[in-house]
Amino acid sequence: MTEGVLRRYAPYLPVGPGTPMISIGEGGTPLIRSRRLEKRFGCQLYFKLESCNPSGSFKDRGMVVAVAKAIEAGSRAIICASTGNTSASAAAYGAHCGLDVYVVVPKGNIALGKMAQALTYGAKVIQVQGNFDDALRMVRALTDRHPLTLVNSLNPHRIEGQKTAAFEIVDDLGDAPDQLFIPVGNAGNITAYWRGFVEYFDAGKAHVKPQMMGFEAEGAAPIVRGQVVEKPETVASAIRIGNPASWQKAEAARDASGGIIDMVSDEQILEAYHLMASEDGVFGEPSSAAGIAGLLKLTRAGWSFAGKRIVCVVTGSGLKDPDTAVRYSTVSLTEIPAKLSALERALGCG
Ligand SMILES: *Cc1c(COP(=O)(O)O)cnc(C)c1O
Repeated sequence: MTEGVLRRYAPYLPVGPGTPMISIGEGGTPLIRSRRLEKRFGCQLYFKLESCNPSGSFKDRGMVVAVAKAIEAGSRAIICASTGNTSASAAAYGAHCGLDVYVVVPKGNIALGKMAQALTYGAKVIQVQGNFDDALRMVRALTDRHPLTLVNSLNPHRIEGQKTAAFEIVDDLGDAPDQLFIPVGNAGNITAYWRGFVEYFDAGKAHVKPQMMGFEAEGAAPIVRGQVVEKPETVASAIRIGNPASWQKAEAARDASGGIIDMVSDEQILEAYHLMASEDGVFGEPSSAAGIAGLLKLTRAGWSFAGKRIVCVVTGSGLKDPDTAVRYSTVSLTEIPAKLSALERALGCG
């Protein structure tokens, strides 16, 4: 039986005797070595498959802690604004624990798989005629006035839970990697990984700290541009964010680690999305390709990654967003009559 992150990393988490040790199997995700893509970079490249969490994204690591703490505090209802994965995760843990779950999403801007999850787990889904930033502003104001627990990454327990992914990487590799490539949206995850690496370093479990290499999407790059983006646009809906909640913390992680936060175009994201799947068998959602898109961009700009040990975080499953997969497919479908000879001809062996 999997332990879940609350049990496995209890000494590093805000858990006490009153904390319910809930789990639906989050954490313990695979760290796999690239076989083909890494040859382009001359580095050792690993993928941290956060897509293998129970609701299909890394959000489960933080959500399990946030929900456990909400229950411990006597809360009966949780709420979040979401581009999709936070709502799927909140809905899953809320269902597991019998809480009321309210999710507020930007209308028409949430990937099909994520909507399917929130609805099937039984959350109350509210669509706002606005973007994610509007939804978050409303939910924050609401929780100031009503007894609902906010489980967005403004909830400090989310970041605490998410840092366990950094622990697992060190536990698997025996030390921290040289660099961590990661998409940046609300910037909670880059903040969480950095905290995890620093805590493990301070505990003597790692001897180095990695450079944090974060990537926003060009149409949603407030940190890179140094200003709020009013109408964020990108194919990568999970990082379509114009005013990140953890902006300053992400900049602090970047600077303390000697890393960067840069941006990648939708074209670069989709190229990386296809390469990860077709060269290494890793099907992440478009946002999850931002790290590899960044690695490709920097390599083409003349950076060398030769000899480095790099981990790229695959934040969510490609199955979350089947519309994008089909819309941007580069493969043409062949249709044939139900005859062996037609199949042979179609395969070029007839
Ligand atoms: C939430 C999410 C991100 C962005 O993470 P932040 O903590 O908001 O920076 C990236 N990819 C996926 C799949 C996500 O669900």
